[in-house]
Amino acid sequence: MKPKVKAPSFEAISKTLSIIEKYSLSTVCYSSKCPNISECFKRGTATFMIMGNICTRNCKFCNVTSAKPLPLDENEPLKIAKAVKELNLNYVVTTSVDRDDLSDYGSTHFYNVIEKIAALNPNTKIESLTPDFRGDINALNLMISSKSYKLAHNIETTKRLHKKLKPKSSYTLSLKVLEYYSKFKITKSSIIVGFGETFEEIEETMRDLKNAGLSQLTIGQYLRPSPKHYPVKKYYSKEEFELLENMAYSIGFKAVVAGELVRSSYFADKL
Ligand code: SF4
Ligand code: SF4
Repeated sequence: MKPKVKAPSFEAISKTLSIIEKYSLSTVCYSSKCPNISECFKRGTATFMIMGNICTRNCKFCNVTSAKPLPLDENEPLKIAKAVKELNLNYVVTTSVDRDDLSDYGSTHFYNVIEKIAALNPNTKIESLTPDFRGDINALNLMISSKSYKLAHNIETTKRLHKKLKPKSSYTLSLKVLEYYSKFKITKSSIIVGFGETFEEIEETMRDLKNAGLSQLTIGQYLRPSPKHYPVKKYYSKEEFELLENMAYSIGFKAVVAGELVRSSYFADKL
């Protein structure tokens, strides 16, 4: 059964959105019409999308435009840092589109955003949900050396479905990136379900992530953004999400959130 999404509370989001608009920023919370927006904004967390809203990849489930991106905004690090301060956020997730058009895959800009947020907001924890940076070692080291409290990279789907749903990405490369991150920082990943994967395939993906050294995992339901996107093959029940959560704990994850409205940054401050 398709999950019921609670209507967002206007009061809870209007102040946050006016500050975000003032700085011409983009949040995943708003642009993806995330069903958890009221709850997260009330709790002082938000997810900023940096480096524009055009991606060089073309994942079949994603609502972000796939095309040649625009040049980077050099003022973006300062604008986000100021917005975080004005919003008094205690936990921030920074994420980005993939920038395969840039020689460093956008890693220097990503690093600058993290460092500027940290400089202006020393008490705010920053989680960095990064692209794979094509596995570039300099880019990965830059993320590790940043003031990120936690690093994340989303595997999204199982080994079998990965090429079909993420044709410009690689399951193996994502695991390598996560394995490298997890040697240095708390590391998290996320699985979306509803693409037609089996429970055995989800378990295999969990084991691959655990073997890569991860301790944290989120699992959420795929909701099709539009009819041109990949169709939903299955809506998981509450009981099935509980089963998946228990499966992840039994495999050895230390913190797991699973549920129909769970997104990779949901409850990020509590994991
Ligand atoms: Fe934003 Fe993530 Fe919360 Fe959704 S779950 S509102 S994207 S912080
Ligand atoms: Fe969307 Fe991320 Fe895929 Fe780009 S890499 S199309 S932003 S899911």
